Amino acid sequence: MTDFTYAVDADGVATITWDVPGKSMNVMSREGFALVSEMVDRALADPAVKGIVVTSGKKDFAGGMDLNVLASIRQAAGDDPAQALFDFTMSGHHILRKLERAGMDPKTLKGGKPVACAIPGTAAGIGTEIALACHRRFMADNPRAKIGLPEILVGLFPGGGGTTRYSRMVGAMAAAPVLLEGKMLEPKAAKAAGLVDEVVAAADLMKRAREWVLSATDAEIVKPWDQKGWKMPGGAPYHPAGFMTFVGANAMVLGKTQGVYPAAKALLSAVYEGALVPFDTALRIEARWFTSVLMDPSSSAMIRSLFLNKEALEKGANRPKVPDQTVRKLGVLGAGMMGAGIAHVAASAGIEVVLIDATQEAADRGKAHAAELLDKGMKRGKVTAEKKAEVLGRITATTDYGALAGSDLVVEAVFEDMKVKAGVTAKAEAVIPEGAIFATNTSTLPISDLAKASKRPDQFIGIHFFSPVDKMMLVEIIKGRETGAVAVAKALDFVRQIRKTPIVVNDARFFYANRCIIPYINEGLRMVAEGVEPALIENAAKLLGFPVGPLQLVDETSIDLGVKIARATKAAMGAAYPDGAVDAVLFAMADKGRLGRKANAGFYAYDDRGGRLGLWDGLADLWPVAEAQPDLTEVQQRLIMVQALEAVRALEEGVLEDIREGDVGAILGWGFAPWSGGPFSWLDIIGAGQAVAICGRLAAKGARFAAPKLLVEMAAKGQSFYGRFGAGAKAA
Ligand code: NAD
Repeated sequence: MTDFTYAVDADGVATITWDVPGKSMNVMSREGFALVSEMVDRALADPAVKGIVVTSGKKDFAGGMDLNVLASIRQAAGDDPAQALFDFTMSGHHILRKLERAGMDPKTLKGGKPVACAIPGTAAGIGTEIALACHRRFMADNPRAKIGLPEILVGLFPGGGGTTRYSRMVGAMAAAPVLLEGKMLEPKAAKAAGLVDEVVAAADLMKRAREWVLSATDAEIVKPWDQKGWKMPGGAPYHPAGFMTFVGANAMVLGKTQGVYPAAKALLSAVYEGALVPFDTALRIEARWFTSVLMDPSSSAMIRSLFLNKEALEKGANRPKVPDQTVRKLGVLGAGMMGAGIAHVAASAGIEVVLIDATQEAADRGKAHAAELLDKGMKRGKVTAEKKAEVLGRITATTDYGALAGSDLVVEAVFEDMKVKAGVTAKAEAVIPEGAIFATNTSTLPISDLAKASKRPDQFIGIHFFSPVDKMMLVEIIKGRETGAVAVAKALDFVRQIRKTPIVVNDARFFYANRCIIPYINEGLRMVAEGVEPALIENAAKLLGFPVGPLQLVDETSIDLGVKIARATKAAMGAAYPDGAVDAVLFAMADKGRLGRKANAGFYAYDDRGGRLGLWDGLADLWPVAEAQPDLTEVQQRLIMVQALEAVRALEEGVLEDIREGDVGAILGWGFAPWSGGPFSWLDIIGAGQAVAICGRLAAKGARFAAPKLLVEMAAKGQSFYGRFGAGAKAA
């Protein structure tokens, strides 16, 4: 059983087939690389072999590098992980370069053996990089297949030669969407972008690749950069057009990333520096930058959170060991913004849905919302007319609770009101089977209190979606005091079916995500009240890598929602309520009718069509800007620390049981600086000692900055979160 097999046919075509045993998708391992190398040697040395076809035994070509391999190389290398990672990267370059030169005479460029890549389905990462090293790429005309180099999305860049090859093939500017944005392209778009040469019917894929191999001439297999007088398309850095490209690209990347993503900068450097030197030197440069990115704590944190841990959670790392709970029929109560969104994602995943509202008109409106989303998908070519009809056919919009009969899961998304929710819980439970699970999508009401309306509190759970449901990938599952294992498994299986990422937390005010994000918004509002320049607050957040500043965020989520939450929290907390300064700002904005984006007026000014213009210039009249402004670092520390400390408290109090969920949930739920890997990874990067010192400096601002006991203890013992609570370990 090996990852690659080798066969030579009667015409002298050697086929190297990638087919990793026991996996649905090919991923590259160290051993896999060694095997490819051996097989290439064998084909080049065998006089009977005229050419090579590289292909896959699976429906897809490859998912990329097994990122665990990089982590294990780093760990195994002991004192000099950088050297080990560089050597590993260079060995990959040697193998692919050998394939690319294909035994040709280096001077005359003659006598090489043609190498084609036959790509039956999706190819990503190192899979695409192998394809790029081949002389010609054939991709099956499979509408579900995509090809690309998405490394940048997990904090890396294509380090298997993809950066150097692709930028030299199409020029730095044209390569940007694939390299810098990690765009995956469908076959036809991939051909237009130069990633593949021919798109052919799936049935003809191998035939076409073999024909080409047998007919290719010497000239056809020499890569442009190996020919005399080669010039970079679009211009190298010292060419006037190239100069414009690189200056523009640099500004664009820094504008988009605020300089906090090391991989984006390293990628640009590798392309720029590589463009000035011969190809083999450029590969060395790429390997050096790749190593530097691998050694950057931000990259390891991003890989850990956005790839390894996200996948572990999706695969059920914290799922109780109970039999499969796949949802077959879902009831959704309340066809408003959230209910309609939940019905849409569930029906799209093949689940039969009964969508109930108080009036038929409201229920129909909810279904119409699903239709609109499907229409949008059709416009973008993602949804076919048949698929739309199929999905809508699965949604029954009604006012009749009787239609819930046979539902194995019900999610309620009615008004945020204890009594209304209790009413629909009783009505649904009267109809659904004994074993069915009842879930609430509440954002603010305690699950354990809502469960009191249920006859079966062990079958009652929180499944908290984020808005907009079709776009937001996180689902927060909340266990009430009495929630049982089957309910947790049901919620997790449901989230798996709709292909989102779950975290499982315990019941406490605002659960996990909102608990951390509200202090972020509040810190911004507090600073406004203190006279901190609003632009400083917003820019400090963006420079930290937060996608939206706190003032923009409160505009998006709406100021009246903030007011509502503030009032309810104050009523619940009484004298202990700490946010009077925040409320003064919120209430003043609400009084002026500046309710945020939906009112076309908030902390920002908007044009008639809702386009954001800039910070509202009336803010200074309400909260005069103080003469002495804090420095940028202080503002940033307040904004990030206030969230990170809340995450630590959630862990300390047992709301979070697994730091992996804390990190993944923070990035997917509210965009917590993805470069950091999440709040726990960020605290590990700066170290518990430094975190406690920052808390000390901010202590005068209020009790919210008091270092939690756990953090102080970890600082004293020199511990890190991942060291102490590591993979899979439960919290304190
Ligand atoms: P919404 O007002 O858009 O929708 C609520 C729907 O419930 C309305 O269509 C209403 O007619 C219906 N409804 C009310 N009483 C009903 C009853 N007795 N029977 C049947 N239907 C009834 O509200 P929304 O924004 O969709 O929020 C719904 C729930 O989701 C709330 O609990 C809210 O806290 C939670 N939530 C909202 C968001 C968000 O961003 N809006 C995010 C996460 C969770």
